[in-house]
Amino acid sequence: MATNETRALTPVEDEVLSLLHSLGVPETSWRNGTRPVRSPITGEVIAQVPEADAAGAALAVERSVAAYEAWRAVPAPRRGELVRLLGEELRAHKTELGRLVTLEVGKVLSEGLGEVQEMIDICDFAVGLSRQLYGLTIASERPGHRMMETWHPVGPVAIITAFNFPVAVWSWNAALALVCGNSVLWKPSEKTPLTALAVQALFERAAHAFGSAPEGLSQLLIGGAEVGAALTDDTRIPVVSATGSTRMGRIVGERVARRFGRSILELGGNNAAIVSPSADLDLALRGIAFAAMGTAGQRCTTLRRLIVHEGVYDTLVPRLAKAYGSVSIGDPREAGTLIGPLIDQAAFEVMQDALDAARAAGGRVHGGERVAIGGHADAYYVRPALVELDAQIDIVKHETFAPILYVLRCTGLPEAIKLHNEVPQGLSSSIFTNDLREAEAFLSAEGSDCGIANVNIGPSGAEIGGAFGGEKETGGGRESGSDAWKAYMRRATNTINYSRALPLAQGVSFDID
Ligand code: NAD
Repeated sequence: MATNETRALTPVEDEVLSLLHSLGVPETSWRNGTRPVRSPITGEVIAQVPEADAAGAALAVERSVAAYEAWRAVPAPRRGELVRLLGEELRAHKTELGRLVTLEVGKVLSEGLGEVQEMIDICDFAVGLSRQLYGLTIASERPGHRMMETWHPVGPVAIITAFNFPVAVWSWNAALALVCGNSVLWKPSEKTPLTALAVQALFERAAHAFGSAPEGLSQLLIGGAEVGAALTDDTRIPVVSATGSTRMGRIVGERVARRFGRSILELGGNNAAIVSPSADLDLALRGIAFAAMGTAGQRCTTLRRLIVHEGVYDTLVPRLAKAYGSVSIGDPREAGTLIGPLIDQAAFEVMQDALDAARAAGGRVHGGERVAIGGHADAYYVRPALVELDAQIDIVKHETFAPILYVLRCTGLPEAIKLHNEVPQGLSSSIFTNDLREAEAFLSAEGSDCGIANVNIGPSGAEIGGAFGGEKETGGGRESGSDAWKAYMRRATNTINYSRALPLAQGVSFDID
């Protein structure tokens, strides 16, 4: 996409151009760069973005430190005002940004818009939070003393994000980090820099309206793993929040730990749902279909394993196979499409490899084949796959980031929970049941081992009010609602002596004359 090109733009390029223009992204930041960006809808290159290098990253960190030193002194409710203004920009540009998400990632339009709604919601949450960054008062063992906890800003926060939620994940982190008094540095997925550029432009408009935000308070660094690694290793960055594969998290987590930094890791999931004999099967069918096939199986919370009681297996699974056979696959911008494309060829190949492994182990595969849409040779549309298995074989224990649902049969809840917890990941989970005892057992200490456990809804589609994240190889981090904000602050315990004596703790005596 060079500016001196004379050829006519394709319809997708034309739409991207007009969206970026109305979102206020200058052409210099997405044309004539070194990194090509493709739309998975047609597979064509839609932009060439310039990339940051290690020297650029170091300079950005320096600016981020300076911005943090100014921002931390601004009262938190005033910091909330900036995030409120960001929410207003997102409200005003929801349609354009949501459509750009669809063009860059391939998710259906209602999900593109839903992602921007999530950003608006977390801004609202953070504005309220900016007046609620409270600590505890603790009874002191010494007379005339008071103890309390105070929460302080911590410094620049690096945010590394995955392709599949190209903008919402940044906002979960950034809205909280900013009201907590930190500056932020964002390294988006190299597959989705355009939506990141658009969000940065909206942030800058909000900062302009705010009037006194320090320069460099929120910065964007486009590039690959090497830019992420530069942020990971920089001792001036006390918190690194990284969302992506477990492979990436293992590298980032270790490197941050080596320098005693703090990491918030949001990594791969391998989410399951249990269907018990008492379940409302109509409701379960709808919940399973959305959780397993929605976003073409490219959510960290996508349903990947279905554990069905033998008493309802032969009623539920054929109905599900029928839904898989008839679900509408196509251009995600068109009304009526439920499944858009996979992000790229590599995702398609990983999916086919997993299906081959399942077949080789005796799995009965329904669907999974490539579907031709619009004659786009470089776009990868697939029919979601349902795979019936007699045992939880090795491939099932890996996260394959594609629409594959493995179905297993069980004889009762203890066996179902055992199968459920028998994978290395621990993000999201659910049970479909109308039996109170089963529901409570699933949510108890002896039930699901995941960070998210639901009853009578699928594992995907979390609300921003709760803490989001998972256990085991999912990384243990929590973002978004509840008290996730504490990860973006440092805690100080203060003891104040308002007496005239100096009693030491634990009755220690140390008298000098
Ligand atoms: P990915 O791991 O390939 O990339 C994620 C990000 O990490 C990108 O920005 C990438 O450039 C960066 N990165 C890669 N290697 C790095 C390194 N060595 N140092 C620093 N940064 C590095 O993941 P992806 O394919 O973009 O996204 C899909 C994965 O993300 C899936 O595993 C999915 O489950 C996971 N995910 C998890 C959550 C969650 O909240 N748990 C949310 C969304 C996606």
